[in-house]
Amino acid sequence: MNVDFVITTDRSMMSNHHGREFLGFIATGPPIFLPEALWRFACCPKPRVDRWGRPVEAPYGLRKVEAALIESGFKASIIDPDHVFRYVRTAKAVLIGHHDFFAYGPPSSEWWLLTGRVPINRRLFTEFMSELSDYKRRYGFKIVVGGPAAWQWQWEEDKIDSWGIDTVIEGEGELVVKEIAQKILDGEPLPRYVQVGVDSVPEVSQLPAIRGASINGLVEIMRGCPRGCSFCSVTLRPLRHIPLELVEKEIAVNVSNGISGGVLHSEDVLLYGSSGVVPNEGPLVKLHEVVAKHLRSVAWSHISLAAAVVAERQGRLLSKITDMVYSKMEQDYIGVEVGIETGSPRLAKIVMPGKSAPFPPEKYPEVVEEAFSIMHELRIVPAATFILNMPGETPEDVVKTVELIERLRVYRSLIVPMIFVPMGKLRGQRDVIARVRITREHVEAMKAALDHSLIWAERIMNEFYLRDKTVLRLLLKYFMAMVRWRASSVYRELENFVEKELVIPRV
Ligand code: SF4
Repeated sequence: MNVDFVITTDRSMMSNHHGREFLGFIATGPPIFLPEALWRFACCPKPRVDRWGRPVEAPYGLRKVEAALIESGFKASIIDPDHVFRYVRTAKAVLIGHHDFFAYGPPSSEWWLLTGRVPINRRLFTEFMSELSDYKRRYGFKIVVGGPAAWQWQWEEDKIDSWGIDTVIEGEGELVVKEIAQKILDGEPLPRYVQVGVDSVPEVSQLPAIRGASINGLVEIMRGCPRGCSFCSVTLRPLRHIPLELVEKEIAVNVSNGISGGVLHSEDVLLYGSSGVVPNEGPLVKLHEVVAKHLRSVAWSHISLAAAVVAERQGRLLSKITDMVYSKMEQDYIGVEVGIETGSPRLAKIVMPGKSAPFPPEKYPEVVEEAFSIMHELRIVPAATFILNMPGETPEDVVKTVELIERLRVYRSLIVPMIFVPMGKLRGQRDVIARVRITREHVEAMKAALDHSLIWAERIMNEFYLRDKTVLRLLLKYFMAMVRWRASSVYRELENFVEKELVIPRV
């Protein structure tokens, strides 16, 4: 097979995570309580590939880049990282996408801070790049990197040179990658950085349909988010709703490649087809009718808690959707990620005034509780996050978050803390990438989340998420038993804890 543009990534991304998207998060941590090989098996088994080394399922973002290039006549293909070496002698370029190249994004940076150990995703990427840069020195192809984590290369400038990266693309890549590919074919000099600004992102009509299956059948239904939280980069992307025809076409591509489940990707699935922050029944129902027509199961990437409350209060829309999914598809629960972020109305008002809309920020904790109660009733199983160390946070804000987490104890869910890691402020510091002060209140919040998740994780695994995955279930059960055992001694040590500074060192 003749390929000019090899599109790839490392193993942490090129895996279907045993058909469970959430297991992919295991790659954001370092191996603890388990040998590294078992840890890697749990998060990122190798995918099926064809005789040319093309994976049956590949990350959705890479599929979009592949489709954009093929549509414009370039010879491009996604290749599994284990097979890239078969193409490097003749390829013009290797294009690499990633969600978290160097483990500086959440939650990798948090596990790194807390454990002091390098997460698996960074280890895998570094291993892959060391090998690839050796090939580049021999064969001279170009290397272009991009994706949601492109910003991380600012903190790894030396690796741009030592690994021979030619271009870093930051922002949505479907349009600009074609210009870069043409320059490569024409032998023109390449820019070191390309920043795709909000005016240059593709319009909906310029988005190509994927040509091969995406991992776990993920398809994008929206880009951007209307809520405008100050700490979130998604707000920098213009809001676009993907037409149902394109969504259906991509689902059909997945089905024709043997992928019968799907993940609807949006920052807020419940806002599909709405013009503001209030769910719109028509488009949402139609979307799920299309999903139910083609697929056997579906998950949602994210919903907002406010939208869940509005949807249920207005004509029991959420019940209608879940009834449809459970009656027409082969599933009896829906998995989703949700962001709580804070339990403090004061902080919510400052950093995320739109998160609770159409309810005022003062009501945010009540909105969160109501949403959790609704999801519990409707067998929507959330993996929820909240953020510690946000700019402007006071100890009282964290106490409010702890109180909220404790009130959520009765609702089936996982709750995971995130630590806001202010990368930008440390530019110029040579030996440290990030530095965070952990307070007594932060520790209380992490403890509340761990206690909550330890109560619910086993039930969720047994009754919902991993009921048909015995080996994985046993592995994770062992892991949780170890966490429980270790937590009890850590809790004792923390009795006199006041404050501690944690760092991510430059490695
Ligand atoms: S609601 Fe979520 S995706 Fe939207 S801006 Fe806030 S944090 Fe970002």
